[in-house]
Amino acid sequence: MNTSCASRFLKIKRSLTHKDVLCCLFITAKRFSTRELLNEAYCRTKLKCRSKKLPQDVNPQGVFACNELDLSEVKVYGFDYDYTLAHYKPSLEHLLYNLGRDMLLEKYKYPAGIANLEYKPDFAVRGLHYDIEKGLLLKLDSFLQIQFGAVYRGLTPVPTEEVLKLYKNRIIPIAYVEGDTRAHKTNQAKMVHLADLFSVPEMGLLCNVAEYFNKNHIDYHPEILFLDVKNSVQHCHPIMHKIVAQNVEEYVRPNSGLKKYFRLLQEEGKKLFLVTNSPFHFVNAGMEMLVGHEWRDFFDVVIVNANKPKFFTEVSRPIRVFDKNANTHIWEKVTSLEKGIIYYEGTVKQMQDLTGWSGHQVLYFGDHPYSDLADVTLEHGWRTGAIINELTHEINTLNTNTFKQNANWLQMLTQLIEDHQDYKQPEALEIIEKWMAERDYLRNATKSVFNPQFGSVFRTYHNPTYFSRRLFRFADIYTSNIRHLLNYSLTHTFYPRRGVMPHEYGSYFV
Ligand SMILES: [Mg+2]
Repeated sequence: MNTSCASRFLKIKRSLTHKDVLCCLFITAKRFSTRELLNEAYCRTKLKCRSKKLPQDVNPQGVFACNELDLSEVKVYGFDYDYTLAHYKPSLEHLLYNLGRDMLLEKYKYPAGIANLEYKPDFAVRGLHYDIEKGLLLKLDSFLQIQFGAVYRGLTPVPTEEVLKLYKNRIIPIAYVEGDTRAHKTNQAKMVHLADLFSVPEMGLLCNVAEYFNKNHIDYHPEILFLDVKNSVQHCHPIMHKIVAQNVEEYVRPNSGLKKYFRLLQEEGKKLFLVTNSPFHFVNAGMEMLVGHEWRDFFDVVIVNANKPKFFTEVSRPIRVFDKNANTHIWEKVTSLEKGIIYYEGTVKQMQDLTGWSGHQVLYFGDHPYSDLADVTLEHGWRTGAIINELTHEINTLNTNTFKQNANWLQMLTQLIEDHQDYKQPEALEIIEKWMAERDYLRNATKSVFNPQFGSVFRTYHNPTYFSRRLFRFADIYTSNIRHLLNYSLTHTFYPRRGVMPHEYGSYFV
């Protein structure tokens, strides 16, 4: 064993098992077959991995920047309501699921056996795609590649061989996923992106019913099932609004930071507005519980039933006054937006014309990457903050020692395989195959800790998901709760970290 090797072992010896040290001492003492060389390389890599200090915990209350954002430029703060200001307890998903299931039975006359199907809260995650032609729920990455092992028909995983047979490829053509928008092409998308948190119980119902049909050999059209489930759940929203408004504590999580944050913004002379698709009585009940009876004093403009994304994209839908006492809207033309009055529908153009708020002086918070964030960024130049509820669970998972160790070793093992893959001797191939099997095990272990079926909302095995690419494109900052903004001053600048490009790995500044 040479001197440098010996000193290295002394350095890291404390973190190793006796067996590891013996293995490396034995192998480095002589140079023999390819098998021994590969075993030595594995052993050295493992020792190096164990000697590495695990990364620090990520702050679950952090606000993360995709794009530089200087809050001192922001004069107007806008908010969506559902899943942005109001975070719901699991009871809301159960309620939506049960109402949707009952609607399927009553309105669409689905088989009575469906009444016994209970909601499985941890089955699906947000950001999946549903293939309306093939009836599959699956996860795509930012390259439109299918994540194998995350494709389900009903509640049953579809084996990779079958997935490849169905799609002929691991990459799905963009026209299939998003529709073909080129001139003279009218192909409709065959996939629906489930980017809304309200769609999670919808997916749960869809998969439960599909599983029931499959198990009972009932023939069905995946698109019809999708539309029936979607319409059932959406038709239930008014009933859900009523139930939740009558018993807010059972469904809405308290959030004491909200009032503090609104007060801070108001004291610093910022303007505040609320634009939500939900009806007034529902929002009012939630906001009274979250902020207090005088919650409207904080807001300069309140627009309910806004019908986003149309609110951000249409140009000629009149803004109307909502009479909360009569629970209806008034016919008069709106010529100014006044504090204390509830508005209804309208468009962002009218709001901008009547208030003068526009461009980068507006920061809008929402949870939906399309209907809240995409158009305001692309069309109106507003700054955007995404409120992503799932971030808490994802960060808490990243912070566990087991995850850190597995993710570390996965990286190093992948590098080891890459460096040694060109050996052609049968003994080498046998060893590399073992490494590949270990890598597969680690990939699955680091995936399933987030969600056993679909893994992380943000990642496939190594790439960002389709959902996170959209999110990072349209959000300047993101966090799991509005109250985390209280940890920063109103002149704070959020700086994005210098991301590492593939050719920069190993460079001195990484
Ligand atoms: Mg929302």
